Amino acid sequence: MTELQTFRKAHFTRKTPLTKDQLAAIRAGDACWLHSWDTSSEINGPGTRITLFMAGCELRCQYCHNPDSVFTEFGQFATLDEVWERVKRYKKVYEYTGGGVTASGGEPTFQWNFLRKLFTRAKEEGIHTTLDSCGYLGRLVKDEDMDLIDLVMLDLKEGTPEGYKQTTTRRLQPSVDFGDRLDKAGITLWGRYVLVPGLTDSDASIEGIADIASRWTHLDHIDILPFHQYGRDKWHELGLLYQLEDTPEPTKAEVARARSMFEERGIAVKTY
Ligand code: SF4
Repeated sequence: MTELQTFRKAHFTRKTPLTKDQLAAIRAGDACWLHSWDTSSEINGPGTRITLFMAGCELRCQYCHNPDSVFTEFGQFATLDEVWERVKRYKKVYEYTGGGVTASGGEPTFQWNFLRKLFTRAKEEGIHTTLDSCGYLGRLVKDEDMDLIDLVMLDLKEGTPEGYKQTTTRRLQPSVDFGDRLDKAGITLWGRYVLVPGLTDSDASIEGIADIASRWTHLDHIDILPFHQYGRDKWHELGLLYQLEDTPEPTKAEVARARSMFEERGIAVKTY
């Protein structure tokens, strides 16, 4: 048993384990682990949207502000029909505001079997679909699935292989490959960059992100999201080692510097 498996067994064992049928339904994409959901405007895609926070993620980002969402043990079992009923309920609102459904997480492609079926229903109803993804498991999204996705908000976490590994524990290249495939398929991309002082904001990191993003012809812009400490208490409650205890939020000047570095490369930027 690995260290992580031992940790999970000790901390996250479900009080009510899923039945064999429930697990089979999840494997088949007829059900999912759903962490939570909400309705919001603009931040999770255009218009007013329902955002599904799917449980499960293979990365371990130092700055994750929902560290519980990376473990499927914190997800509720939900069937495809249950989730679809919830999504469809707001169809008139999406039509009125130019919104739709966003799958976020955790990492939504971790449960792509489920989302493929959900997004198929959404497209049949003319509902706009967005993935908010780190791209690491992009290989699970097949070329024939691309028509199901209108927009991808793709995390650009760090622009160098070494820095990406330090920030997330995983490799950078799969996310770049996914971005390349999405761009080739003509899918609109919004890049998302969390500016963490001392972790993701070196010249090499920002230049590396600019190198990657500037070759995507369907990139609309990059969102610069300033790091914050809202997730710190969750790390503590879970008993996980939080490495950013003393990391400050970026100053306006630090955000402006990153912005100008992207803009000098011809990349449009939005800041929050
Ligand atoms: S990819 Fe997202 S959900 Fe996964 S660890 Fe990183 S910030 Fe958290």
